[in-house]
Amino acid sequence: MIRDIEVRPAGAKGLGVFARRTFQPGEFIFRRRHGRVVSNRDIPSLSEDERRHLCELDFETSAVLLPPGCYLNHSCEPNAMRSGVKVFAWRPIAAGDEVTIDYRLNAFDDGDRWPCACGSTSCPGEVEGSFFALPLARQREYLRYAPSFIRREWRRRRAQTAS
Ligand SMILES: [Zn+2]
Repeated sequence: MIRDIEVRPAGAKGLGVFARRTFQPGEFIFRRRHGRVVSNRDIPSLSEDERRHLCELDFETSAVLLPPGCYLNHSCEPNAMRSGVKVFAWRPIAAGDEVTIDYRLNAFDDGDRWPCACGSTSCPGEVEGSFFALPLARQREYLRYAPSFIRREWRRRRAQTAS
């Protein structure tokens, strides 16, 4: 039973995850559980709802996210971070704040763009869905929390630009 967060409407974003107490940076919030793990080839056979709540695990596979974690919304200036299935505070979070993460942490699809309604001042309104489209300083900040396939790809790209 998760008591520290709740799911409720988050305006134009649909449902969102909200803090029920304050969290200090680094503090564990909750575990975002995975349901079915599917090959990316099989994504078209999933239900519309399952397709809306996918998490890329590597270049070939994705996991269907279960509630409440599937309702974690993206923000260009997130107040939470994810490392694997563990979600923890990245900035101070007050009771009642929506908990948000940056979906680009594990996104690798260069050129994929989505409209963003996160409302943060740095939000361009449309987000390029790739870790590697983040400003370099942000990539460095996020890197240790990114999944291993992103870290490998990061090293590969850095090696390429260095040569
Ligand atoms: Zn945004």
